[in-house]
Formats: sequence, C-alpha cells, structure tokens
Amino acid sequence: MKHVTTFAAAGADAHGTVGLVPTMGFLHEGHLSLLAAARTECDTVVMSLFVNPLQFDRDDDLRRYPRDLERDLRLAAATGADVVFAPEVETMYPEVPLTRVAVATLTDHFEGPHRPGHFDGVATVVAKLFAGLQPDRAYFGRKDAQQLAVVRRMAADLSFPIEVVGAPIVREHDGLALSSRNVFLDGEQRAAALALNRGLAAAAGAVEQGEREASRLVELVDAELMAEPLLEPEYVALASQDTVEPIEVLDRPAFLALAAWAGPTRLIDNVHLDVSDGGFAADRGIRLAHPSVLYEGA
Ligand code: AMP
Repeated sequence: MKHVTTFAAAGADAHGTVGLVPTMGFLHEGHLSLLAAARTECDTVVMSLFVNPLQFDRDDDLRRYPRDLERDLRLAAATGADVVFAPEVETMYPEVPLTRVAVATLTDHFEGPHRPGHFDGVATVVAKLFAGLQPDRAYFGRKDAQQLAVVRRMAADLSFPIEVVGAPIVREHDGLALSSRNVFLDGEQRAAALALNRGLAAAAGAVEQGEREASRLVELVDAELMAEPLLEPEYVALASQDTVEPIEVLDRPAFLALAAWAGPTRLIDNVHLDVSDGGFAADRGIRLAHPSVLYEGA
C-alpha cells in the first residue's frame, strides 16, 4: 500500500475501476466496511484521510478531532487499500478557497442549520477529491444520511461521472453507531448514548406494527433520549430520503434522524425506513460481534 500526500502521486498507479473512500481518519469498522465494499467492487482502492477544516463549524471540535495516522495506515493496509491519500491542509488548500460548493434545499434542515457552513465544507472537499482523484465510484456511510444525499446531488449537479455508493451503518455489539468521536465518551456517557439506538429501534418496531405518524415515531425516540439525564437531544425528525425535508407521515422512503449531545460530544444516528408498496423495511445497519478496535490504543 502506498501512502501519498499529493493528488499527482495518488493517481500515479491507478488502474481499472477506481474506488474512493473519503474519510477524516481515526478509522473504525464503519470506515473499514466502506473500504471492504470498494475492495470487492474496484481494481484500485484509494482512501483519503483528511480532517477538513472547512467543514468544522466549531474550532474546539476541529482542534480536538482524534488523529492517529500510523494506526490508520495499518488498518487501511490490512483492509486492502492500495493508496492512502493523506494531504496536508496546505496541499488541499494552498490558498483560502474562493470557490465553495453549496448544495441548496437538501441542507435546509437537520444538520444544516445546527452546523452552519458544514455542508458547504463537505461538498467543497468532496468535489475537490472527485476532481483530483477522478474515481469511478465513491463510498459513503448512511450513518451520515443527509451528507450522502448532499454528495449524490452535488455529483449529479456538477456532472461528475461517479457512482456514489451508500453503505449500511456499522454499530457496536451493543448498538451504538461507530463514530470517531465515540472515543471522547466516558463510561457513563457511553452508556447513556445507547439510548439513541434504543429509541430508533423502538420507532422502527412501531413502524413494523403499522405506525406511520412522524410525530408518534419522534415521541418514541424522545422518550428514550429524555430518560437519560446525560443526553441533550438537539433534534429528532422524520426526513424524506430524496429531498431531506421533514415529513409528517411515513409514505415514502425516509430516514428517522437525530442528533444529541453527550457532554461535549455531539452524536448523530438514524434508521432508514421504507414502507412503499405496502412492505416494511428498516435498515438498522450491521452489528459487530465484538467491541470495536476503535478503543484499542486510542
Ligand atoms: P468520517 O471520517 O466521520 O468523515 O466518515 C467517513 C465516512 O465513513 C463517511 O462516509 C461516513 O458516513 C462513514 N461512516 C462513519 N461512521 C460510520 C458507521 N458507523 N457506519 C458506516 N459508515 C460510517
């Protein structure tokens, strides 16, 4: 596996179908599942590791974002990456970019208003990665469901000939969605954070029993979150998958999404719900059989 820091070097040995897995590093099994999917479907697999300052709405979050390049390189190599592209900020942004990519309407709700500038930063860096690396496919997790919708639309609007692939949420053995930020949770906060998945599971169960009212689904999630004094919920809402607008009734492919603070750490999670054609599907993701490697040496 090659570790490179420039776009030119990243593309040097690419051959056949190129798969890109964009990340901010501090890898966990969620990232590795994207890498594994790319490995089975592509000839050349490139993982980018870049903590993108442009997408952070808070300086303290950027400063304390966990980083461990050596460990990431080991994990990426072991999972079959051909190239890890880990540029310096000065390489990605030789000058403050005067050109930003902004995706309208899909960013009006949920993460958008709570994190001003976040999606412009994401869309801009992903557009730069797409332009600089020219992958055929790019892999993103449904953990960031709104981000996935934003990236898909950006790629279509800007005519990038790239297939954007969405992959299931990977969860800890006890249901907590994997996140690089989980490393900040102390024991009590981590235990409280299990309420996120519990609430989403309860709502998915209610949908399976026939519930379609968004307000009722939100109540079920809220009940779990409110029962945890260590959690401070930010939003819980049912969103249309395509438009990422709030919907009142589950009558199209949707996701039930939430954000909550556990102390100084902000967590997001969601469940994909689809009852179209009278059927029921809830994509609650994949559970690890064992505790994550995230905590090893972290
Ligand atoms: P990040 O490093 O947090 O920017 O995430 C990089 C990519 O990994 C994004 O496409 C995320 O959606 C994805 N990802 C993060 N956590 C998970 C998870 N628990 N399961 C699946 N994908 C994830």
